[in-house]
Amino acid sequence: YIENAVTKLNLENSHREYARAKSLMPGGVNSAARAFGAVGGEPIVFERGEGPWLFDIDGNKYLDYIGSWGPMILGHQFPAVCDAVHAAVDRGTSFGAPTVAENELAELIIEAVPSVEMVRLVNSGTEATMSAIRVARGYTGRDVVIKFAGNYHGHVDSLLVSAGSAAATLGVPNSPGVTQGTTQDTMVLEYNCVEGLGQAFAEHGDRIAAVILEPVCGNMGCVTPSGEFLAALRSLTEQHGSVLIFDEVMCGFRVARSGAQSLFGVIPDMTTMGKIVGGGLPLGAFGGKREIMQHVLPAGKVFQAGTLSGNPIATAAGIAMLKSLRDDPPYDYLEKISDRLAQGLSKSAADAGIEHCVNRVGSMMTLFFHPGPVTDWTSAAKCDTEKFSKWFWGLIHRGVYMPCSQFEALFVSATHTEEHIDQTIAASRDVFESWT
Ligand code: PLP
Repeated sequence: YIENAVTKLNLENSHREYARAKSLMPGGVNSAARAFGAVGGEPIVFERGEGPWLFDIDGNKYLDYIGSWGPMILGHQFPAVCDAVHAAVDRGTSFGAPTVAENELAELIIEAVPSVEMVRLVNSGTEATMSAIRVARGYTGRDVVIKFAGNYHGHVDSLLVSAGSAAATLGVPNSPGVTQGTTQDTMVLEYNCVEGLGQAFAEHGDRIAAVILEPVCGNMGCVTPSGEFLAALRSLTEQHGSVLIFDEVMCGFRVARSGAQSLFGVIPDMTTMGKIVGGGLPLGAFGGKREIMQHVLPAGKVFQAGTLSGNPIATAAGIAMLKSLRDDPPYDYLEKISDRLAQGLSKSAADAGIEHCVNRVGSMMTLFFHPGPVTDWTSAAKCDTEKFSKWFWGLIHRGVYMPCSQFEALFVSATHTEEHIDQTIAASRDVFESWT
């Protein structure tokens, strides 16, 4: 495995800076997902990323499978994105007024994502889902939104119910501070459960404004929707006049350039985007049918605004990213090396007699410490999270940085080579062998 991997990992500087951070920021972090809450120990403090590598402030390097939780599909410091950012900075950092770049990014998104006829740029995935829900409610004049257990749509109050990602990891099914009133119009169903969905529509169909889901779920670990489930989602929402929203913040531009909707051939009414679409800068987007999007202020009456929305630096990064994905698509390559990684990780566990299963779509995947199949939150929650933590730390000590929770997907980038993948598999094998 990794050549400077550090059987005796020195994290002295990380520990010092984390202690300092804890006195300054709650839990020492600016996003709960980073705090290693699920795996124990302290987070590592980084100073640099390059291609598939991350470098910490103690001089250790790691093969990175978090990729900033998704955006780094082309690796760290991707030249076209960095050049675009440098050039944009030289023209000013924010104008709060229209720019040509916003048109360019909107055109690139509309061209790529089948469901999107009009789009609005925002600053994060959370803003995208929050706004999409508001628009769906304004458009239908209805209140109820269906979400699925284990799906995470950012920290929108009304969607922080049975949420995945850090909420699942930290066992916060419903965050303090989220009032009952805020969530009373949120209905939570089991992912992949056609029967439950049918029953909800049969009983409440004329009250349901929208159904929102991760069409490839990453936030309870990687979980894929069945064809039956997708077909039921599309036909029931159509039948009852509800808005089908695909939250492609994580899987958009990741599992395919045109997202999960193109992969599965199911076209939603609205789509939310984030992560890759901003090339690693704070940018999100929501879009959909023209008829629906025309309800957004000032074309329509549904309020939506943002001081930094369409920010010129973030927009420049997004344009460079989407053009690179269009002109030099990495998806065939990603499929090939991601399959190699999935098979290798699975074999490393199998050879050590460890119960597991791997779910993967393209370059998103999770090694679950459970024989599976993992198809929803109920089955995901059965995983052996202690084994996961041991595996995670074993890999850290061998120079591999995996997502710090069983309930997250790992991401492969186009800068990961076969050699990197094989080093990762060897590291995993070594961790498992050290347990026996
Ligand atoms: N939706 C999904 C599917 C996500 O995975 C995330 C973040 O991980 C969000 C929404 C929220 O995005 P952000 O963290 O940019 O607010």
